[in-house]
Amino acid sequence: MSSSAPQSTPLPLAQRAYDRALDCVHCGLCLPTCPTYSTNGLEADSPRGRIYLMKALADGRVEPGHSVVRHLDLCLDCRACETACPSGVMYHELIEETRIHLHASRKPQGASRLVQWMVLHVFPWPWRIKLATLPAKVMQKIGVWNAALKISARLLPPQLEKMQQLLPIGGPLWAKRLAKHYPPTGKKRMTVGFFGGCVGQAMFQQTNRNAIALLTTFGCEVVVPRVQRCCGAIHHHAGDPNGAIKLAKRNIAAFEGCDVIVTDIAGCGAMLKDYAFLLHEEPEWTERAGTFTQKMRDINELLVELEPPAPGHSINQRVTYHDACHLAHGQGITDPPRQLLSMIDGLDIIPLNESDMCCGAAGTYNIAEPEMSRELVDRKLANIRETGCDTCVMANVGCAMQIESEARRSGMKLKVVHPVDLLAQAYGV
Ligand code: SF4
Ligand code: SF4
Repeated sequence: MSSSAPQSTPLPLAQRAYDRALDCVHCGLCLPTCPTYSTNGLEADSPRGRIYLMKALADGRVEPGHSVVRHLDLCLDCRACETACPSGVMYHELIEETRIHLHASRKPQGASRLVQWMVLHVFPWPWRIKLATLPAKVMQKIGVWNAALKISARLLPPQLEKMQQLLPIGGPLWAKRLAKHYPPTGKKRMTVGFFGGCVGQAMFQQTNRNAIALLTTFGCEVVVPRVQRCCGAIHHHAGDPNGAIKLAKRNIAAFEGCDVIVTDIAGCGAMLKDYAFLLHEEPEWTERAGTFTQKMRDINELLVELEPPAPGHSINQRVTYHDACHLAHGQGITDPPRQLLSMIDGLDIIPLNESDMCCGAAGTYNIAEPEMSRELVDRKLANIRETGCDTCVMANVGCAMQIESEARRSGMKLKVVHPVDLLAQAYGV
């Protein structure tokens, strides 16, 4: 891949990912938007520095030693650098491909091993998440959860303590499954396949129900295939591309026959929209994956496409809006949620400084990299505090859990809601 003489075993990056590194012209325009660079000021923790390191790894000019790998581990894969890049560098393809190769030689130990096992074997199934969190939910109901958190803060390793702390307060003990079919109100306009997400179905089922209620109100027949599976983002980011590919194939088959496929979870949506790329080396899946990607929508963009009438109910409230990375940078969606919220009479949307700067959640980054994650969420909370709002709107469960739990930890009164929660209230559905 390179004319320079390798001194170490080159990392076997795919040609397309390697070419992404060559697209970088080192202009540095992405640097101010990078959460890690703007926190510690290190070139090696900037997009440009990481691209240089990844290319050097692929050329065999550097060893994948501890310090090199640390700089790559600290990347949130938030894709803010892609939004800023004038050269169209698809940074996420490069970092994800590099991580797959680096992860292959890793053997996590102790708490990290347990966390990795949970991430791969519990998180991708809603019923396993519900089962794993049931004792905590019971403790919340009987009022001993805060005491349990205090004890576990002293006993548990930081990663496991963070997992506990992320658990939302309230909600049902066991979220009921969605129905398989929801008929439209009035004349049918299209059939929409609904993707509920694993954490979404276990912990944010009411938001899923609100999204479905809005869709049926605007003339969509909604189907929820029972055979849908995790989007694969967890596997993909944990360096298990084969696991992600297997799940992608299941989902493509599950949603065939729908006119449009929708999710209300930005993290899942970004992954689902990437299926065409994920399967680009499997010719028998190329067309089906391409069709799936074309049909895929975030709930905010689909609702705007449906051109809804003005909502009938006012909400007299001041709120601010946080741009989830996987919506703003991963899918380029910033206007639709604001457009929908601005239709609600009485709702005052206060601009949030650095609204598209990562909150430090980034999938399981907040568990794996608690220090950088906490610096970023503290910065996010300080910006939210400045707005004077006690409600923050966001379209991703990962951000919701991170921002809500860290606000609680710091004693800040803050409610987090999804745009569809406010819209359902405004439309009275
Ligand atoms: S993905 Fe985010 S954290 Fe990683 S280099 Fe780009 S901007 Fe920085
Ligand atoms: S903005 Fe793009 S081209 Fe410029 S340094 Fe960043 S990644 Fe490279």
